[in-house]
Amino acid sequence: MRALAREIDGLELPAIEKLSESTQEDPFQVLIGTLLSARTQDATTAAASERLFARASTPQVMRTLTVKQIEKLIYPVSFYRHKAKHVKETCAILVDTFGGVVPGKMEELLTLPGVGRKTANLVLILAFKSVKNICVDTHVHRISNRLGWVKTHLPDETEQALYESTEARWWPTINLYLVTWGQNVCRPVYPRCGECVIAKWCPRVGVTKRGRTGRIGGTGRMGRTDE
Ligand code: SF4
Repeated sequence: MRALAREIDGLELPAIEKLSESTQEDPFQVLIGTLLSARTQDATTAAASERLFARASTPQVMRTLTVKQIEKLIYPVSFYRHKAKHVKETCAILVDTFGGVVPGKMEELLTLPGVGRKTANLVLILAFKSVKNICVDTHVHRISNRLGWVKTHLPDETEQALYESTEARWWPTINLYLVTWGQNVCRPVYPRCGECVIAKWCPRVGVTKRGRTGRIGGTGRMGRTDE
C-alpha cells in the first residue's frame, strides 16, 4: 500500500474522488455522483454530474426536476433511465425522511433507491470521513483477488474478507489506491505486470494475459497497451 501511495501520486484520480474534492466533500453530491458512476466511464460521470449539479445542487431543488429532465441532464451515463428515477426518488426520501440531508449511517443509506454497499461505503468514507469502511468496486474486487489478499467471487464477499485480511489503517484508502491502479496498470484484461511496482509481492492469481509495456503517465491514461 505504501508503494502504491507513492506511485499513484500524479495519476488521474477516480471521478468521485475529484468530485468529492471539488465540492468540499458534500455528502449529497458525492452520493448522487456515485449513483451516476456505476458501470460508466469516469469522464462521462464527471460531465453528467457537472450538468446535473449546475441545474440542481441540493435534494430540495433536484426533487422538483422531472425524471425526463434528469434523464436529459445525465445522458449518456449507463442505465440513465433507471438512474434518473433513482435520483428523483432518493431526493424525495432525503427531503421527506431525513430532513434534506444525507444520513451518515450504513443502514439508513441502504434504504435509498439504487444505493448498495459500494455506494454507501464510498459516501461514508469520502463525505463522512469514516475510517471503518472499505468500498469494494470491480477494481478492488479484481485486484484484491489477483494479489491473493482474498479469495472471493463477489464484491460483497470481498469487502468482508478484506476487513479480515488487511490492516484497518488502510481501509479508507484501499478504494482510491486500487481503483487508480486498476484504471492505469492492473487493467481487467491485460494487466501491465511488467511495469507494476507491486509485482514482487503479487502472485497474479488468475492472470493469464499481460499487456504490452507503455508509459504510465501523469494524465492517468495508459500509453496504450490493450491488445
Ligand atoms: S503484478 Fe500484475 S496482476 Fe499483480 S497487481 Fe501488478 S498488474 Fe496487477
